Amino acid sequence: MTSRPAAVDVPALAQRAATVEASPVREILVLTARPEVISFAGGLPAPELFDAAGIRAAYDRVLADAPQRVLQYSTTEGDPDLRAAVAARLCARGLPTLPDDLLVTGGSQQGLTLLATALLEPGDVVLVENPTYLAALQSFRFAGARVIPVPCDAEGVDHAALTELVQRERPKLLYLVPNFQNPTGRTLPAARRRAVAKVAERHGLWIVEDDPYGELRFDGDPVAPIASYDAAADRTVLLGSFSKIMAPGMRLGWLRAPAALRRACVIAKQAADLHTSTVDQAAAARYLVDADLDAHLARVRAAYRERRDALLAGLADALPPGSTWNRPDGGMFVWATLPQGYDATALLPTAISHDVAYVPGRPFFATDPDAATLRLSFTTYTPDRIGEGMRRLAKALATVAE
Ligand code: PMP
Repeated sequence: MTSRPAAVDVPALAQRAATVEASPVREILVLTARPEVISFAGGLPAPELFDAAGIRAAYDRVLADAPQRVLQYSTTEGDPDLRAAVAARLCARGLPTLPDDLLVTGGSQQGLTLLATALLEPGDVVLVENPTYLAALQSFRFAGARVIPVPCDAEGVDHAALTELVQRERPKLLYLVPNFQNPTGRTLPAARRRAVAKVAERHGLWIVEDDPYGELRFDGDPVAPIASYDAAADRTVLLGSFSKIMAPGMRLGWLRAPAALRRACVIAKQAADLHTSTVDQAAAARYLVDADLDAHLARVRAAYRERRDALLAGLADALPPGSTWNRPDGGMFVWATLPQGYDATALLPTAISHDVAYVPGRPFFATDPDAATLRLSFTTYTPDRIGEGMRRLAKALATVAE
């Protein structure tokens, strides 16, 4: 009998895989999956508002009309009809766009990964809002970037601090979520967008403008995208998504970028997944022709406005005196700060034991987390349920009153 040779250990994981942490938000979603928990934690669109019938009809139709095309491999750039429809929507929002300016992605999250692959060398500096979208931090960290937060106030990045950091750190890109930001819900005003575009022009850096929430405005007037300012038109990438306006399970987004960078992203996408699902793209394109996305969005906005108001109405009694929070004009999130000394992460198990949940703000900060912050999403419950969730939160926090 021959004996089995001694096994030699397999090589270690890549440094980046060993150091980038799993998203704590995804872990919280697991903890709050019990149906009795009213969870303000997830950043999920309201599932009962999905236009399931309209989307099903679109899939039926493309599978009936063109099965051999929609079940086949297709181009990396994306379905021409879908790109034309997205370009038309962007033009209608005041951003002249041709179908060829766009690359269809597997959600805007893939857009972030492609940009990180196409632009970032290990050690490159990326500036972000503080706090910012967690999975963008993951993408930049996976690329080995040094992520530096720009100090922010209630309206977003502070201009003087941004200018100082740009001069000192020579960043390659600045990542912004200008509309109803995740996690803070705040919107960057036009004057600051112009100033950001000027900084990018003067100092030579890319702007990544991530906009999954821009079409979910319920109050006030839309603010033009940074990509529409001449100063930074040649250096701004706009990321869009169908996740919050149609359905996130379809995993469809798009990237609008200047030609050379877009081509680099196309090559990165070839290496990642060849192309986004042909049938999903075809169904979305069909849906945009046969259904009325704007009428659907009007229903979603009206529901979210009521839900935001229910959350705001409940917060004053739910949070301890001295807490502060904002009133977002759209999107999905309210950002709250508990009085000094409170730690939202330490309080979460108490909240969950009262069958209510939120996301602590801590993981959204690139550095120097404010432990007293938390994010509450108002999208997935009726106003009554939100009221009940707020009463549970009040009880939970009362048990730990300082
Ligand atoms: N960017 C931001 C700011 C987000 O909040 C999200 C989703 N929560 C994404 C990108 C990713 O969205 P998707 O990939 O579904 O388009």
